Amino acid sequence: MEERVLQTQIIYGPVNSRRLGRSLGVNILPTEQKVCSFNCIYCQYGFTSQKCIHNDIDGLKLPIPAEVAEALMNSLPAVGDLDAITLAGNGEPTFHPSFRQIAEAVSRLRDRNKPGVPVCILSNSSTVNESSVQEGLSFIDRKIMKLDAGRENTFQKTNRPRPGITLKKIVDGLARLENVEIQSLFYSGPVTNASPEEITAWLEQLSLINPVGVQIYTMDRVPADHRVGPLDKSELEQIAAEARARLPEADVRVF
Ligand code: SF4
Repeated sequence: MEERVLQTQIIYGPVNSRRLGRSLGVNILPTEQKVCSFNCIYCQYGFTSQKCIHNDIDGLKLPIPAEVAEALMNSLPAVGDLDAITLAGNGEPTFHPSFRQIAEAVSRLRDRNKPGVPVCILSNSSTVNESSVQEGLSFIDRKIMKLDAGRENTFQKTNRPRPGITLKKIVDGLARLENVEIQSLFYSGPVTNASPEEITAWLEQLSLINPVGVQIYTMDRVPADHRVGPLDKSELEQIAAEARARLPEADVRVF
């Protein structure tokens, strides 16, 4: 597996994304370090710093909304055909204090320059209950939100969130979002979220959320904790079959 490096600019790509096609990335987090409220066991960017885990973001160099808008405006005319414009990058995009304004600006620039191309977000779901984040998400066409576990204990061991973030709060918030898509990464190792009991619990949470889509995948980069590893494609297909049976109207895909 390859190592993943941090994005070094606000706009990156277009990249050929497994899940989104030809996607122009928008990174609204610092270029020197990952900024995230999770510290996932499988994170491709390595472990999250203790400062971020304790929500100490003083001194981080975050781009202001005008800088993001200018960078996107300069990029869009020359990028060619796109399947997506995606807020992702060096951590959790909704963590930015001006996320709502940035989401609105990205949506407006898309309307002007690439009408019909969906604005997407890859989020870890940890901020889904914050009202300003919900306002920001209303500007996003495809809200692709993380849910890797169905049990609190497994969520804590897998995603290792900032203190106070619980699976129950996240599931409650996701259940209130319209047209939400769930992204779930499954892995194996001394801790796993892919045993039959774990999948049963995960399916129960999916039923509460009722997503329009479910993206199932595994690790394809070097993980933060080297004791965990990827699942086989056949194991992912089995999980997908169970998700389709539970949610017959959702678009469930393996990547
Ligand atoms: S949510 Fe994403 S960026 Fe944050 S620690 Fe997990 S995998 Fe890494």
